[in-house]
Amino acid sequence: MTNIIDGRQLAKKLNLQTKRRVECLAKRKIQPGIALILVGDDPASLIYTRNKHRRTTKLGIHSVLKRFPATVDQATVMATIKQYNHDESIDAIIVQEPLPSHLDGQAITNAIRPDKDVDGLHPLNLGKLYGNQTGHYPIACTPRGIMTMLDHYRVNPAGMNAVIVGRSILVGKPLAALLTNADATVSVANRYTKNLPALTRQADLLVVAAGSPHLIKKSAVKPGAVVIDVGINRLPSGKLTGDVDFDNVKDIAKLITPVPGGVGQMTIATLMQQTVDLAEWRHNG
Ligand code: NAD
Repeated sequence: MTNIIDGRQLAKKLNLQTKRRVECLAKRKIQPGIALILVGDDPASLIYTRNKHRRTTKLGIHSVLKRFPATVDQATVMATIKQYNHDESIDAIIVQEPLPSHLDGQAITNAIRPDKDVDGLHPLNLGKLYGNQTGHYPIACTPRGIMTMLDHYRVNPAGMNAVIVGRSILVGKPLAALLTNADATVSVANRYTKNLPALTRQADLLVVAAGSPHLIKKSAVKPGAVVIDVGINRLPSGKLTGDVDFDNVKDIAKLITPVPGGVGQMTIATLMQQTVDLAEWRHNG
């Protein structure tokens, strides 16, 4: 049996479930809706946003792609969010990062209605996650997708030594909360961590989200570890690669995700899943 996690296959399965849920809602005359807000014309952001728009539409979700020039002012973006906050046809709002430096990204995140915050970055939703609260609230899609992946491959984090490389609010921090809540012993590394390989070698579960191609070599991985590579890096050759030296690490890992075909697929599928969650939660009360 292969030790390579098939993110594509799992995402396909999740999308199928999401599609069925959209069909069920349609019988109740409900169509989940997402507003995707893109500022500027950063080529990678444009591709990500268009992909999200295309895939949501394919699953039967109402999708609105709102584009602004890079020069847009704060008040215009805030007014648009306010409009979607009140729009009955919109259940989920997402603002593509990175934003131009003249915009206050924190104020923009905080302006999104928490029950439409499909990225799970609103302080109220982050607080609930850190508090390990029960009930419904959105969680950042990449970490949630990783938890779905682990669950599917029967990896129970309880009692595991988990090391996360990268402490961003989008990946490292919410994942640290999810794994802590699942009773793993969690360490979170950043670019100032001393002797990173000594830390990562202790990991039963190693998640790497640093944005640094091939940062993690075979000698930095414990044999039998589960290795989740979140990084997406484009090499000068145009090839996409992760943060882990996949070709060598795969020989000693118990399970490992490839790039592409791993976490990235799950992130988008989880975004679709969570959009439908938000619609169901809003309509079911
Ligand atoms: P970020 O730049 O916000 O954060 C990177 C983190 O990694 C920081 O905390 C930094 O201190 C740490 N770091 C960087 N170099 C390091 C090093 N040498 N040693 C230890 N720590 C180091 O990035 P992000 O938004 O979290 O994204 C990280 C990577 O994951 C990027 O490649 C991004 O494209 C990718 N990403 C992929 C998905 C997906 O769906 N697969 C989703 C989000 C981000």
